[in-house]
Amino acid sequence: MSQYWSPAVRELTPYVPGEQPREQLVKLNTNENPYPPAPGVGEALHDYAIDHLRLYPDPTSAALRGSLAETFQVASSQVFVGNGSDEVLALAFQAFFRHGAPLDVPSITYSFYPVYANLYGVELRKHPLNKQWEVDIDALTAETSRSGVIFANPNAPTGHAHSLEVIESLLTRVTDRVVLVDEAYVDFGAESAVALIDRYPNLLVTGTFSKSRSLAGLRLGYAVGSEELIDGLLRVKDSFNSYPVDSLASLVGIAALKDAEHFEACREHVITTRERTRQRLEALGFEVLPSKANFVLAQHPDYEGAQIFAGLRERGILVRHFNTPELNNFLRITIGTDDEMDSLIEALEVICG
Ligand SMILES: *Cc1c(COP(=O)(O)O)cnc(C)c1O
Repeated sequence: MSQYWSPAVRELTPYVPGEQPREQLVKLNTNENPYPPAPGVGEALHDYAIDHLRLYPDPTSAALRGSLAETFQVASSQVFVGNGSDEVLALAFQAFFRHGAPLDVPSITYSFYPVYANLYGVELRKHPLNKQWEVDIDALTAETSRSGVIFANPNAPTGHAHSLEVIESLLTRVTDRVVLVDEAYVDFGAESAVALIDRYPNLLVTGTFSKSRSLAGLRLGYAVGSEELIDGLLRVKDSFNSYPVDSLASLVGIAALKDAEHFEACREHVITTRERTRQRLEALGFEVLPSKANFVLAQHPDYEGAQIFAGLRERGILVRHFNTPELNNFLRITIGTDDEMDSLIEALEVICG
């Protein structure tokens, strides 16, 4: 605490990301992609004239938005970009959720939402997951007055994804406020709600290059939605920083989007490894929640989460353990390469054997 901090800053509880270790560890704790980005990324960076860095980037990110629009078969005016989807989410909280009514959110979901809610003075109304550890759509839509709805699909850290049908049933019930669907993990086997944006002008879908496009270090994310929602985001962005996406990030993003083949191969590899890992964990006695993401959430009936976490760490393997009452016993394990998962299973055979 410092006397120089404003009262609002004293009240903040900043987000704590998963550890980025300096040692060489098998790193399965922050849902990064184990495979390199598209080969075109390297070429794009190499060919880029250094001279360009002298100039400010295009404040409208027209080229990158055009590439995303082509990828999603929407208009450029329905696409917004930012420094990672975390920044896009922050701008969305400011643009849409400050109505002086509670924001409906699952009690277990991406832990940045409560941080932004606190920063922007948005009250959260938290709804427990159902018995299958799924986002409870009926609970989320039970009230009549709200500032909006936000959840991740697939959800984090459970990995469960609702079908488009279920998302649409939510949208038919919430029409007066923004419904934000965070699709950070959608490419690992779920259906994208981008298909619904033309029918539901209050639907905002966010996505990221960090997971399925192997570009977590680049900080590039986006939102897709009706023109009026995108205009709302642009208003906030242009009142804060007109140049959020730098020239290099735009260029790299465009190169990554161009390589559909690499993208498909990577995500299929991750999905195959995930299903194999799930079977092997179950063979060791773990309960593994079904996942459509690049991680699994698992618990063992005979060993505590913290105990397994510590055992893995001693053996040079880093996974994610959440110190909350509901998730205490679970571990969230990112899907790495097949070799990395072999190391994980070997270590678990010793720890839980
Ligand atoms: C990783 C993640 C993000 C953030 O992605 P960035 O684009 O790297 O900021 C957003 N939402 C969820 C649910 C995530 O897991």
